[in-house]
Amino acid sequence: MSLNRREFLKIMGTTTAAVAFPGVLIQGCKKALKKASARTNVIWIQAQSCSGCSISLLNKVDPGIVSVITEHISLNYHQTLCGGTGHAATQVLEDAVKTNRKDFILIVEGSIPTKSDEYCTIGEMDGKIIGAREWIQKLGENAMALIAVGTCAAFGGIPAAKIHATGDNPTGATSLQNIIPDKKVINIPGCPPHPDWVVGTLLHVLLKGMPALDEYNRPLMYYGTTVHEKCERLPDYKRGRFAKHWGDEGCLYLLGCRGMDTGCDIPTRKWVDGANTCVGCGSGCIGCTEPVFPDYGNRGIYKHLVASNDELKNLHPEVAEVVLKLKAGGSING
Ligand code: SF4
Ligand code: SF4
Repeated sequence: MSLNRREFLKIMGTTTAAVAFPGVLIQGCKKALKKASARTNVIWIQAQSCSGCSISLLNKVDPGIVSVITEHISLNYHQTLCGGTGHAATQVLEDAVKTNRKDFILIVEGSIPTKSDEYCTIGEMDGKIIGAREWIQKLGENAMALIAVGTCAAFGGIPAAKIHATGDNPTGATSLQNIIPDKKVINIPGCPPHPDWVVGTLLHVLLKGMPALDEYNRPLMYYGTTVHEKCERLPDYKRGRFAKHWGDEGCLYLLGCRGMDTGCDIPTRKWVDGANTCVGCGSGCIGCTEPVFPDYGNRGIYKHLVASNDELKNLHPEVAEVVLKLKAGGSING
């Protein structure tokens, strides 16, 4: 079942809502909703997010994102993509809560504030402003499956990062799993996540059920190997050829690469339809799929390895050996 652009625009011509994205259903259009009823419903809530996960999703190449949302799912609600605005849009959420709908998958992007609902609100119900936390809790109780897209929804991510001066997480930002502890959440972390991870997981849930997950509830098919294991700079690492400055050739470990401790298949999947990888473009891996991102204790990202004696104790023994040699030769400080 699909709606092509012509059909979609014809259907939408009878509504007053603005069309923002062809193929995405606009709430309040009975004919479109009826046509979509054979597909699985998805309600996508954006809480404390930068929308980067959604932007990444729109770069899905094969199958294209329009095909996914018109042929495989019915995207009932998505703040950025839905054509309806104001109450016409949030009516979908209100109806889902009031009628105890159970026929949808709930996807959450962004972390959820717990110190006050006022930090992140989405529309109103019965004249009362409703926080993202309340929508998510109410919808999550009935959802067929719960998926956290991006590291913010999966683990708290950047909104949950500590302010260094105070050690505080100012909004009490937390993960979807912490908001709904009684049901299993599939986590698809990444800052942003690769679109294949999101669509692949969603289609797996629709067609085959729950995918195999790792200890952080991430699908093993995408997060089961470390960046280091498949890294194009691994031969440099093995030969002890380390970059000392940005732009140098060689393994990026001494510049703060976190590939050894990070589950992610980007070295083989690559970004932007195979164009490049994070390590390949010289950035190194910042470990964006891990629960410790972005704080890593108090170290933060892109921190050069100082390798004090204390830090040496925590390094992989083989890396510590290389670092000791470089220090002895005066190649690095510390
Ligand atoms: S650049 Fe990073 S992931 Fe690649 S070999 Fe070096 S430490 Fe491992
Ligand atoms: S390689 Fe590292 S920085 Fe790049 S997406 Fe994977 S975890 Fe994130």
